Amino acid sequence: MTSGKIGVTTENIFPVIKKFLYSDNEIFLRELVSNAVDATRKISTLSSFGEFKGELGTLNVKVSVDKEARTLTISDHGIGMDADDINKYINQIAFSGAEEFLEKYKDTANSIIGHFGLGFYSAFMVSKKVVIRSLSYKEGAQAVEWTCDGSPEYEMKPIEKAERGTDVILYIDDESKEYLDEDRILGLLKKYCRFLPVPVVCGKKKEWKDGKYVDTDEDNVVNATEPLWTRKPSELTDEDYLKFYHELMPGKEDPLFWIHLNVDYPFTLTGVLYFPKIKSNIDLQRNRIQLYCNQVYVTDQVEGVVPEFMTIMEGVIDSPDIPLNVSRSYLQSDRQVKQISSYISKKVAEKLDKLFKNDRAEFEKKWDDIRIFIEYGMLTDEKFCESARKFYLLKDVKGDYFSLEDYNKLVAPSQTDKDSTVIYLYTTDPVAQYSYIKQAEDKGYDVLLMDGQLDEHFMSLLESKNEKLRFVRVDSDIPERLIVKEDASKTNLSAVQSDILQGAFSAQLPEVKDANFIVALESLGENGAPAVIVQNEFMRRMKKMAEQQSGMGFMGVMPDNYNLVVNTDQPAVKKILETASSSLDSEVSKILSEITALNEEVAKVRGDKDADEAAKKSAEENEKKVADLRKKQEELIGSYAAGTPLIRQIIDLALLQAGLLQGKELSDFISRSITLL
Ligand code: ADP
Repeated sequence: MTSGKIGVTTENIFPVIKKFLYSDNEIFLRELVSNAVDATRKISTLSSFGEFKGELGTLNVKVSVDKEARTLTISDHGIGMDADDINKYINQIAFSGAEEFLEKYKDTANSIIGHFGLGFYSAFMVSKKVVIRSLSYKEGAQAVEWTCDGSPEYEMKPIEKAERGTDVILYIDDESKEYLDEDRILGLLKKYCRFLPVPVVCGKKKEWKDGKYVDTDEDNVVNATEPLWTRKPSELTDEDYLKFYHELMPGKEDPLFWIHLNVDYPFTLTGVLYFPKIKSNIDLQRNRIQLYCNQVYVTDQVEGVVPEFMTIMEGVIDSPDIPLNVSRSYLQSDRQVKQISSYISKKVAEKLDKLFKNDRAEFEKKWDDIRIFIEYGMLTDEKFCESARKFYLLKDVKGDYFSLEDYNKLVAPSQTDKDSTVIYLYTTDPVAQYSYIKQAEDKGYDVLLMDGQLDEHFMSLLESKNEKLRFVRVDSDIPERLIVKEDASKTNLSAVQSDILQGAFSAQLPEVKDANFIVALESLGENGAPAVIVQNEFMRRMKKMAEQQSGMGFMGVMPDNYNLVVNTDQPAVKKILETASSSLDSEVSKILSEITALNEEVAKVRGDKDADEAAKKSAEENEKKVADLRKKQEELIGSYAAGTPLIRQIIDLALLQAGLLQGKELSDFISRSITLL
């Protein structure tokens, strides 16, 4: 029997391993099973090259729990190790300054393990003693047993062992009892070893008998040794992809489509990514892509490996080029990982483009589901945006889909304004904005449906990429002015008439919570509506964006500003103006000329830099007089308007159309309508 010290510079590495790596200690199983799998694959390789001529036997890895002995054993029939191998591979830990290193990287347990050949030693995170019993494949090899109790000293002695391969026996320590529970071990094997290339056996298959589960004779293999992504796409059917998806994501609906990744230059990467059906925000969950390294599960935190906007995809990526040490900061800084990320982004864009070109009908069918994802990608990934512009689809209220290019061709002839900007009209709510949509359509315009969560931002994005394009919501102006083709028609009212009409309508404006109204007069033809409520596109967008940003800026709590546009050509409005003029004209004219005279005085003083104190004082007084006169005029017109229910009736009709007439106002409107009838 020999004994010796394990070749690390530090006095005692194991307490350090235990202490720092404890939080992640379950990965010991991944490490040990991976070693066993590697050893198994090596013997197959040697055999296929004729370097090993013996019987291969059953090539599997067995994980077994012995509750009584309090051990967990990982056995393989791989190449095994002789005393020299153990000295070389186990006793010499392949780096110096271990303790310092651990201290420095204590937060990234994964990075130390695996990357620096500490894999085997992770066994000490959960064991008070570890025994290796091994028989090498080499001819005439002597089987050996190596024992180490967690101190740097080990013992090694020759033993009798009939079968080739290695048993690693862990004497589980008291704090790690959970690893003596077969279900816990099965759970871990499912997590880390599910797709390892060599069968991993744990316990027996169970069967339901006499009211309980009992073991059968058959070994319970936990993994699929040839997972879908390792196979050739040409050999796979849609059913295979769907089946694999449902194994990965139990209980989910069929995915919309998938992409089989397969590269070997400049890095090696395989995998299958699925695009899930997203029905609500709840489905927008991240971390559903699993990262593997040669079929060994590494993590499902793939930020950095996959472009941000694609983390809502599901599936697997396998790359031996992504080191096991997947700490976040590492991934974000690694060049290779960046390349992988842009490769995946490119592949996804290619796949979508292909679908768009080859199967437009199918693509349209899926569009509503994938739209938010494409928009997210276009908003956050410049390159993706460039490729996606080719297959991005706009949908109009009739349910027709158009590529950006086609749509522009379609609407440009009728929807280009006087500054040669093409105006895309849209609605965010086809029911509430129905009458505006109808009016726009009556004018021969097309109206897009932009009701997605990201549409607001997305429209700004498209506008920023094309200065001759502007989105305008259907209710942001009167139909005649949604797309301004020539300079607006002025009303031909006198100043007095304008004041009377504007004053009369302003006086009758209702109080609506969080809304302000401003009356504007327009000459819109005899057949136009008497009044219509519109909301300026720019103001509305600003407000919406402020709301979406967290913290709600002052814009978010600002009231909505609406314009009440009164059509001075409309007969009912004309009539109101006529009667109002006949009773108000003389008084309003008098007030107006007084105001004009006073204003002239004020302007003179304000324009004179050398004006003296007395002059300034009188200007101030005159300003006050103007304000009083305005107030007087307002009251005068207001009391007149109060006696003219038709004004309020016209306003209410406009409010009704805009969906702003509710509660008491609505019921007043109804009773007034009956009276007027
Ligand atoms: P790594 O696997 O990263 O090389 P480990 O500490 O896990 O580091 O293992 C060190 C070496 O020990 C392996 O490279 C291998 O040569 C040998 N080894 C470990 N486990 C086994 C096993 N079950 N069978 C044969 N050799 C093994």
